[in-house]
Amino acid sequence: MSEEVVQLIIDCIDHLGIQTLDLTGGAPEMNPHFRWLVEEARKRNVEVIDRCNLTILLEPGYEWLAEFLAEHQVEVVASLPCYLEDNVDGQRGKGVYQKSVEALKLLNAHGYGKGKNHLPLSLVYNPTGPFLPPPQQALEQDYKRELQTRFDISFDNLYTITNMPISRFGAVLLAKGQFTEYMTLLRDNFSQSNLDNLMCKSLVSVDWQGYLYDCDFNQMLDMPLNATNEERPHVRDLLAQSIDGQLIKVADHCYGCTAGQGSSCGGALDGE
Ligand code: SF4
Repeated sequence: MSEEVVQLIIDCIDHLGIQTLDLTGGAPEMNPHFRWLVEEARKRNVEVIDRCNLTILLEPGYEWLAEFLAEHQVEVVASLPCYLEDNVDGQRGKGVYQKSVEALKLLNAHGYGKGKNHLPLSLVYNPTGPFLPPPQQALEQDYKRELQTRFDISFDNLYTITNMPISRFGAVLLAKGQFTEYMTLLRDNFSQSNLDNLMCKSLVSVDWQGYLYDCDFNQMLDMPLNATNEERPHVRDLLAQSIDGQLIKVADHCYGCTAGQGSSCGGALDGE
């Protein structure tokens, strides 16, 4: 993301009174403008979330990161698909689990995950195969117990996220001949009660060039936000025109958000 697009985002924060900035990647911390954007958002009292892959905290050249995040009271949301080493390394690659444990200890040492509201640390679970996540609250208790007992690690929230039948996971389903079966599972578990809390109703996703989408999944599928003219909607357009009340583009993958307890970047939707 260029300096120009970052400046437009800061302008939109001011113009629209944006209250939450949710940064994701790849590794958003590797963008040369990351610190500037976080500092400007925090100056404006915007809640900032860093979707951190954890291992970046241990990379040479990123020794500043944990302290920077704590100093600016950035919420850290980190993926840890299981509390068991074999499952994490199987999904993310050999050695990822041990590095993630070291990174979580580092965050704890900086005050994260101690129940202090200003330094929240949340973990993300997603299923390792074509099934729905288990109930979020019960799994959170399991994670807390296991990470505390094994490594003396604490964290605040566990978010369970349903695997979307797109991108790499979608390709694996197709390769294994499980795509139709998984779509049937999602459709059969559709729950009307999730519709009110879908994340696309309250957020807008901005890609690295500044183009807009209803959510990150639509971004991955190159389904841009509904355009009122022929131009692809861009973050600069938000300075001139409101998108409130605009129709959201949906497709079959949306069943991933509406199945069972529901799913969003903030975890289950049921009971929120
Ligand atoms: S995948 Fe569909 S339902 Fe889910 S957030 Fe995106 S647009 Fe909304």
